Amino acid sequence: MGKKHICVIGAGPGGLSAAMLLSYKGYRVTLLEKASRVGGRNSGFELGKYHFDAGPTFLMMSFILKELFHEAGRNIEDYLDLIKLSPMYKLNFPDVILHTSQDKIKLQEEINHFFPGNEHSIARFFKRESSRYDHMYPCLQKPYSKFSAFLSKDFIRAIPHLSLTRSLYALLSTYFNNEHLRVAFTFQSKYLGMSPWECPGAFSIIPYIEYAYGIDHVKGGLHRISHAMEKVAREEGADIRLSTPVKKIITDTKTRTVGGVVLENGESVQADAVVIGSDFGYSMQSLFEDGFLKKWKPSVLRDKKRFSCSTFMLYLGLNKLYNEPHHQIIFSKDYKDNLDRIVKHQKLGNDYSFYVRNASITDSTLAPKGHSALYVLVPVSNRKDLLEWDENEKAEFRKQTLEIIKKRTSMTDIEKHIVQEKIVTPADWEARYNVFLGATFNLGHNLRQMLYFRPRNSFEEAKRCYLVGGGTHPGSGLPTIFESARITSKLIEKQIPL
Ligand SMILES: Cc1cc2nc3c(=O)[nH]c(=O)nc-3n(C[C@H](O)[C@H](O)[C@H](O)COP(=O)(O)OP(=O)(O)OC[C@H]3O[C@@H](n4cnc5c(N)ncnc54)[C@H](O)[C@@H]3O)c2cc1C
Repeated sequence: MGKKHICVIGAGPGGLSAAMLLSYKGYRVTLLEKASRVGGRNSGFELGKYHFDAGPTFLMMSFILKELFHEAGRNIEDYLDLIKLSPMYKLNFPDVILHTSQDKIKLQEEINHFFPGNEHSIARFFKRESSRYDHMYPCLQKPYSKFSAFLSKDFIRAIPHLSLTRSLYALLSTYFNNEHLRVAFTFQSKYLGMSPWECPGAFSIIPYIEYAYGIDHVKGGLHRISHAMEKVAREEGADIRLSTPVKKIITDTKTRTVGGVVLENGESVQADAVVIGSDFGYSMQSLFEDGFLKKWKPSVLRDKKRFSCSTFMLYLGLNKLYNEPHHQIIFSKDYKDNLDRIVKHQKLGNDYSFYVRNASITDSTLAPKGHSALYVLVPVSNRKDLLEWDENEKAEFRKQTLEIIKKRTSMTDIEKHIVQEKIVTPADWEARYNVFLGATFNLGHNLRQMLYFRPRNSFEEAKRCYLVGGGTHPGSGLPTIFESARITSKLIEKQIPL
């Protein structure tokens, strides 16, 4: 006792990383989670004998996760079994199928074969983008609490690499003269829930990172990361209380300081600092007393800020294992039109792009022998479109998506092999997972919502209040969420020393 007490709201990747790091540093940590298991969007669930990840399936920059465990005094190998995927994924265009690889020779051969005239493009891409990455990444690892952060040496050196005036698509088009190749190297903006035509050019570091460092799978599913973090935090003495929703953050309006939280069950938990790991928009809407927030009011978020798309999910337990790759993206004929419709909240029609994960081809622990746990993610508009996703809409969209799978893959008889099934819609993300607008990838990553302009790790609206997770700096996606916890825990160490 006598230690500084940090209360963390939400055991998603952000809250868990923070709890793990802070408890290892010696803080008394109480992590409060509304659900009955940890993980948030990165949690797992079972349908009969089939095991699923709710959200993340691509682990990029696994070295950051390793560093995080190391910073908590652990070897990741003692907790998780990481598997590098090769090929990385199948890009299923209506007229070409491309298998991408981290192996540069294989990648080059594939490109030479399908896209003659782009033989030198890849070398140029790696040379230029590795330099951009080297300059930019260190800038993402720092807090932007003050405007003067833009005057740091690192940031000034990175300015020529920011490509502020170009979209990701425009920037990558300077390397590749083929439309499919341009899409192959820009669709990664969907990891941020954005279209390559609206995503800033600086995010070309994402395709670079993917090809330079590869993609990992975690044996048993990516939600195992959440359980591993829970284990480390508990080993370090953190008190992790599941099925314990927070009702309000305790604030002093005069001093604009937080002092702890009140739980839904009426109990008060006093703390020296509160770390908000629950979804940013939801937290602003629900956890502060009315009138406390000045800058990030829910009405401002809803009307003035940009949020990512949402996702329609199909989790299928199949009594068959198809010979389809671990990751596959099925592209519609007109990809740009498809993404524009999502941004403009229009109906998708009957030709749209989506992602299919057949992880059982790599990982036999997810389903009984000869069976598979199939995961389908369709990017759709967030809840600003006010679509109810009632039973009819769900059934229609499910049917349409299975039709496309049947036409575009070898899973032509998929329907008769479905033995377990679950659907999650944007409305479910909002209601069940407390995700504001069901925007699964959080606040958008346009320039006005990045760095200093994104909600800050040391939260600008209240003292002793900190943010982690996809809604704060550096952004949504697992590696950046891990970075957010690293940045925030360092700030706490400095501002609230033990
Ligand atoms: C379908 C999908 C696919 C994705 N794919 C990838 C991918 O392949 N790779 C990748 O890097 N990223 C991916 N992402 C993005 C990334 O995984 C998520 O953005 C990330 O999990 C969000 O983490 P978080 O900690 O910010 O929030 P969350 O995971 O939402 O965690 C917040 C936690 O707070 C809890 N909570 C909410 N309200 C309260 C309350 N009042 N009291 C207590 N607890 C509360 C929630 O239950 C939850 O556990 C994906 C996301 C989704 C949804």
